[in-house]
Amino acid sequence: MTPIVGLHHVTAIASDPQGNLDFYTEVLGLRLVKKTVNFDDPGTYHFYFGDDAGSPGTILTFFPWPGATRGVRGAGEVTHTAFSVPLASIPYWEQRLTEAGVLVEHTGVRFASSNGGEDVLTLADPDGMKLELVGHASLTGTAAPASHAPCTSDVPVEHSIRGFFGVTMLHRDAAQTAATLEMMGFRKVAEEGNRLRFVPADGEALGRNIDIVVDPNVGYGRSGAGSVHHIAFRTPNDDTQLEWRAEIEKHLSVTTVQDRDYFHSIYFREPGGVLFEMATDTPGFAIDEPIETLGEALRIPAWLEPQRSRIEQRLQPVTLRKAVTA
Ligand code: ZN
Repeated sequence: MTPIVGLHHVTAIASDPQGNLDFYTEVLGLRLVKKTVNFDDPGTYHFYFGDDAGSPGTILTFFPWPGATRGVRGAGEVTHTAFSVPLASIPYWEQRLTEAGVLVEHTGVRFASSNGGEDVLTLADPDGMKLELVGHASLTGTAAPASHAPCTSDVPVEHSIRGFFGVTMLHRDAAQTAATLEMMGFRKVAEEGNRLRFVPADGEALGRNIDIVVDPNVGYGRSGAGSVHHIAFRTPNDDTQLEWRAEIEKHLSVTTVQDRDYFHSIYFREPGGVLFEMATDTPGFAIDEPIETLGEALRIPAWLEPQRSRIEQRLQPVTLRKAVTA
């Protein structure tokens, strides 16, 4: 079995499309790498934010439903989505976010004993989605593994977000979720308080840290704006995906392969309630527009093209503002 190296993307729910676009491009400095529609609900946008190349492991996506009510954080969901930044960039981000009027909390150092520890900033996006910027010593200077700093942003390249660090799930009990992660080739490497850390057996890919926070008394979450809809793990191609599908099917019910244009996907719900996806690295976001202009035009799948004008009429117009001209 070809190992899973980390996250491919995280998909969440937003309300106002323009507010979502502005926050992720102008405040966090990510690049809009694809503006498309929800294939299952074409009257809704699907925004993809990431690094300049739309690399797997950097992609945060949103379904913005105007007027959507906020979700409630709780057990059975991903409560925090974490990005990697260099350790020395934490003061920069704390100041930048504060100046942008974002409520940011310097949560402090996590897993201090391992690898110099992680310095964590916690913040919320306009819909209350909980994000973390994790500064860690293994990311220094401008070296950014498999990452291309967004050239459309005014965030200095040395401070730019390097893609995902990982996610945190909240569960009343970790056992069955842990067993699923282990089936997927992850292993528990650290424990601090009620936080368990799982990583793939090998590699240094982006988005490799999957944490479970255990709280037996917490209420269950309710999905809405600001909630993570699902998390997707990477697999290189269609063949490796089918191998994994056969393995997963021995343990959990899993969908057939869905063509998402930019990757191919299978979905399965882990026993703790979080929807997992496995997405292929291929064909990628440059399949229907050049890298230079990723995200600028509305892209829709070929089977929806005959309905393009009707779809465009239903979507709220949005403006992509670039801080720096590429
Ligand atoms: Zn997905």
